[in-house]
Amino acid sequence: MGLKQDLVYRVARRWISGKDLSGGIEGARHANAAGMSAILNYLGEDVPDSTAADREFDEYLALQTAIHRGDISGCVSVKLTQVGLMVDRSFLMEKIEALASNAESMHQFLWLDMEGSRFTEDTIEVYLKLLQAHPLVGLALQAYMKRSEGDLSKLLDAGARVRLVKGAYREPHGLVLSSKEEVRRNYSKLMTMLFDRGKGFAIGTHDSSLIDQARAISSDHRADFEFQMLKGIRDDLKPGLIAAGFKVAEYIPYGDQWYPYSMRRMKEHPSNLWLLLRSML
Ligand SMILES: Cc1cc2nc3c(=O)[nH]c(=O)nc-3n(C[C@H](O)[C@H](O)[C@H](O)COP(=O)(O)OP(=O)(O)OC[C@H]3O[C@@H](n4cnc5c(N)ncnc54)[C@H](O)[C@@H]3O)c2cc1C
Repeated sequence: MGLKQDLVYRVARRWISGKDLSGGIEGARHANAAGMSAILNYLGEDVPDSTAADREFDEYLALQTAIHRGDISGCVSVKLTQVGLMVDRSFLMEKIEALASNAESMHQFLWLDMEGSRFTEDTIEVYLKLLQAHPLVGLALQAYMKRSEGDLSKLLDAGARVRLVKGAYREPHGLVLSSKEEVRRNYSKLMTMLFDRGKGFAIGTHDSSLIDQARAISSDHRADFEFQMLKGIRDDLKPGLIAAGFKVAEYIPYGDQWYPYSMRRMKEHPSNLWLLLRSML
């Protein structure tokens, strides 16, 4: 590892749980010990060929087995472009069906992440197909996308389990809401739809005002939901939610693709650059 990567890794350890499966499992144990379930993600996306997609698929199978054997409260979250969305549809369906079946046989949930807008339509289509045979599969939906209200309505009609997030990709202006405030308002609107009609859904945010809103709405809804947050972000909020009796899950990425993921987290919040500078002293 070069000096720059070495320095970034020192800071990145707060967001990622090592470079291999055993690191991921260690992070999951940590989360369980703190009262949270774990959602493990093997870092990677945009896998262009079947040989590489096969490798990612094998890692997820091994991960599901390690979660089961390790008696860990948790599951995996996968990106469809990791396991064949860029290869072809029948290849992808074979892989994702196998992951859903494997999860089921081990009494685990399976989450699908939502990627950039060029994959939104396909991801929803594949998810809805998967849901017909596998009820314990959920899908992330991004509040910054203008289309998401319509998508959510369709997904709820189909009995989907949704993880609501703000959205993390750089997108063309026409497709996404332009200001942070608009995204927050839309998040709030979609969250209300989830509390009214959703089941087994997840509020995936570190935004205190949205978390407070969810807590307030939940007091007069008997909704089955959990809060989900990323490893190493707003760790101050997690114990309070657990102590108040809410279910909390920590999303834990690991793997050799840690560098681009960490740089994204770094750029999201300028305060993280201070952490990097401090690590150099
Ligand atoms: C469990 C989970 C799964 C996700 N899955 C997806 C997915 O499938 N697809 C997708 O597009 N996106 C996904 N995301 C990312 C999401 O879209 C946002 O980019 C990310 O959560 C930041 O948005 P926020 O709601 O926390 O609000 P923000 O307004 O960005 O952050 C709220 C507060 O959280 C803290 N915070 C947030 N990010 C950081 C950071 N990097 N460093 C330090 N502090 C920070 C700050 O205090 C900030 O004020 C996921 C997020 C979570 C929590």
